[in-house]
Amino acid sequence: MNIDAVIIGGGVSGLATAHELTSRGHKVIVLERQAHTGGNAMSEDLDGFLMEHGPSTMNAHIPAAGEFSTSLGLDDRRCDLGVGVRNRYLVADGKLAAIPVGPFGLLTAGYLSPVAKIRLLADLLLPHRSDGEDETIMAFCSRRFGREFAERVIDPLVAGIYAGRAADLSVAAIFPKLVALEKKYGSVTLGAIHGRREGGKMPGSRLFSWSGGIATLPKAMARRLGNAVRTGNTVRSVSRRGDGFRINAGGAGVLDAKVVIVATQPHVAARLIADVDPAGADAAGQIHAPPLAVVFLGFPRENVAHPLDGLGFLTSEAENRKVLGAQFCSTMFPNRAPHGHVAVSAYIGGARAPDLARLRAPELVSLARAEFRDLIGAVGEPTMARVRHWPLGLPQYGVGHQGIVADLRTTANRQAGLFLTGNYFAGPSVATCLEGAQETALAAHDYLKRAGNPVGLRALSPGRH
Ligand SMILES: Cc1cc2nc3c(=O)[nH]c(=O)nc-3n(C[C@H](O)[C@H](O)[C@H](O)COP(=O)(O)OP(=O)(O)OC[C@H]3O[C@@H](n4cnc5c(N)ncnc54)[C@H](O)[C@@H]3O)c2cc1C
Repeated sequence: MNIDAVIIGGGVSGLATAHELTSRGHKVIVLERQAHTGGNAMSEDLDGFLMEHGPSTMNAHIPAAGEFSTSLGLDDRRCDLGVGVRNRYLVADGKLAAIPVGPFGLLTAGYLSPVAKIRLLADLLLPHRSDGEDETIMAFCSRRFGREFAERVIDPLVAGIYAGRAADLSVAAIFPKLVALEKKYGSVTLGAIHGRREGGKMPGSRLFSWSGGIATLPKAMARRLGNAVRTGNTVRSVSRRGDGFRINAGGAGVLDAKVVIVATQPHVAARLIADVDPAGADAAGQIHAPPLAVVFLGFPRENVAHPLDGLGFLTSEAENRKVLGAQFCSTMFPNRAPHGHVAVSAYIGGARAPDLARLRAPELVSLARAEFRDLIGAVGEPTMARVRHWPLGLPQYGVGHQGIVADLRTTANRQAGLFLTGNYFAGPSVATCLEGAQETALAAHDYLKRAGNPVGLRALSPGRH
């Protein structure tokens, strides 16, 4: 069989790239280190509870999310957020403060002080920064909206999405729209108002999943790809071979192919491309990913005092909590807990407290139970408790990240036929990874078309290095 492209990594990014390339008629092979596909996207049925080990939501504002759902025939299993989601919660002085869902929720809630609410208006008047230098999210938001808003609203948001700290991460890499609005209109608020008048979408997201959880997506892609997906194959190295590449999968053998797409985590990509593209490897190696732990707990409904009428809660660093935040899983989507029970997930560690994420499972469960007792009145033994450790959780887009990405995007210029894709380019969300995969597949397709006939698979011989 002639193979056009070898894709390393069978997470959402790798599978989606393979899906797009096969739909254009190319023959591909996906090599995945683990016994299962999906990478971070793992949903597990636990006696009627459904635990999301990694992602739990899809962002419907990104068209690729809906496109993949439809093209894979998953729309009949798709579920939107439950009607019970009425609030977002932030922790204030050790208690949950409800922020109504909607654009003015923060202004009507008592979470921010009156001074902080007035300070938000200063964004309309302040001069814009013009030196073009990247700055942290904390610096940008404090400058435009005041310190209280930055610390008590933006920092928890950043912890919730990136498991990161607003004081460390790059505003240009994570919130490029805010930077662009400041530049164009002199004020983020004015820009957002203009954007609405012009029919643009406000930042924010519409979330969905599938009844069987997020892993429904990679499972469907892997099923479509059939025996093009080879699990339990750890790629050891990539080297140049004529006008193509040699991919060494250790005991599983070697493959020769015209195109290689590396769809692994950035530290693995750095190792794999070190020989073929040292500049790209150096850039990928600079991306740091702190550990993150997920603690999933199920309780009988009557053992939890809080109405759980929201997505969950987030905490700011100043609150000094042990959890970054939590999700009310059984309120968000159906089938997450058996009848008469609720399910909640706590997220622990990240850049704020990496050592906590390395605690053993029983300690993490105790810690999460103590937090849930305090914050949502969850008492008694949980019916279900399960922990997932992610030793390298989510890539951190530090100040200067856009420069790193610019280096990574030119990999194919330095080594024709070598492409990188994944959650360290344009955002970590699954939907953004799908979008990135579409772009990567298109670039690889164009390259294959220009290059003419593929070199093809020359060998898959166990033990040959
Ligand atoms: C706890 C958590 C919660 C999250 N919540 C959300 C959420 O609610 N919504 C959302 O949109 N996103 C969320 N995300 C982010 C999202 O899940 C990830 O960014 C996305 O799944 C990354 O997909 P990927 O394919 O790029 O990488 P990965 O999922 O990391 O896949 C990379 C794959 O490469 C394989 N691999 C590594 N080395 C090799 C090798 N040498 N040879 C072969 N294969 C190799 C790995 O085994 C893995 O399967 C969350 C992430 C985490 C960790």
